Amino acid sequence: MLSNIRIVLIETSHPGNIGATARAMKNMCLENLVLVNPRLFPHADATSRASGADDVLARATVCTTLDEALQDCNLVLGTSARSQRRLSWPEVDSRQCGELVANTAQREKVAIVFGRENSGLTNEELERCHYLVHIPCNPEFSSLNIAAAVQLVSSDIFQASQRAEEMDEAEEIEYVTAAEMDGFYTHLEQTLIDVDFLNPDHPRKLMRRLRRLFNRARMEKTELNILRGILTEVNRKLTKK
Ligand code: SAH
Repeated sequence: MLSNIRIVLIETSHPGNIGATARAMKNMCLENLVLVNPRLFPHADATSRASGADDVLARATVCTTLDEALQDCNLVLGTSARSQRRLSWPEVDSRQCGELVANTAQREKVAIVFGRENSGLTNEELERCHYLVHIPCNPEFSSLNIAAAVQLVSSDIFQASQRAEEMDEAEEIEYVTAAEMDGFYTHLEQTLIDVDFLNPDHPRKLMRRLRRLFNRARMEKTELNILRGILTEVNRKLTKK
């Protein structure tokens, strides 16, 4: 899924920022970097700031136009240091961007575009985007270093993709039903009476306490089967005596 995502940097002036971007991307499992007319690339500063993410740099594609960078993309997001509501364009914050990108990239190719260090993206470039992304920050000092911006946006994508994965895994777990828990409590209560741990004439609050304990565990079917198996063995030993 993360391989369907590309980070596009437009006319970056400092090669160090390209390296720092590659590092930020690799930290968040992103690997497709596209550079549109970088001023200096390849460059020793890029390599040194990448510190270990040289594979991302080595694979980076260099293009001469934004069109070329976006050609096969289905969804394009443009980042901006200022809220661009005056353009009346759909705008999301970086967390919403993370959710949107993580969902879309399951099936489609997504590009996130970052602007020039000194002047950002032009209006024409912003208009090429389906959504604009603004990282919420100090309104009096809202321009982040470009690699820092890539770091935050990539981190939100990474976290959203982790959440999506966890939800997929959670869907595979089969939890017990209320009826199955009732069957278990009846079985447990009878067994506790049979082993003389619970006196049915003076039950106190034992079963209530045990219900609270087991309900807290929110058991899976396989876990309940183990407990039922233990009780069945206890029952078998008791009847053998
Ligand atoms: N002086 C420029 C800022 C450029 S910062 C301007 O005012 O537009 C370089 C790039 O980093 C921006 O084009 C954008 O892609 C990204 N960036 C910086 N701060 C950001 C923020 N708060 N939210 C989203 N992107 C940001």
